[in-house]
Amino acid sequence: MSAGSFAYADVWQTDIITISIVDNNYNTESRINSIQYTITGENIHKEKYAGWNQALRTLNSTAPKLKLVEEKGDVQIKLVNYKSVKKHSGDTKLESNYPGVTSKGTITIYNINDLSSAELQMLMRHELGHVLGLGHSINATDLMHPTIPYYDSYISQANLIEIKSMYG
Ligand SMILES: [Zn+2]
Repeated sequence: MSAGSFAYADVWQTDIITISIVDNNYNTESRINSIQYTITGENIHKEKYAGWNQALRTLNSTAPKLKLVEEKGDVQIKLVNYKSVKKHSGDTKLESNYPGVTSKGTITIYNINDLSSAELQMLMRHELGHVLGLGHSINATDLMHPTIPYYDSYISQANLIEIKSMYG
């Protein structure tokens, strides 16, 4: 499954990035729960994380945490049931008000009706990595590889080391 996105080196200057899901026919409770799991999910095993906040808590870093909110968030997630023109399964677009500082973003997840919960989680984990500022990895077994490894799509120490290098 291919997830296209830009590699941004920009960072957020906030403690919490608020995230909301656009209200449409596709934001079902089960999908909201899947997305929530990629934020607050527990360790899969030692040093592999299902949720970004659990992973980020292990770092002594100023990197922000993520929070799913009802009102419009800094980042909006759009679940849509059409194909991406670039044939991506997901995309993240980030905007900055000041050079080097991310201020808002949009995640689009395409072909939502064709995705299992596991696939939606995999894509969201990857796109939230972009939101935090991660670019693509050349390592085919890494969550941030452009083609996400289906059987190992968790947040790793390598991802966290990169975040630490960006945020300190
Ligand atoms: Zn990507």
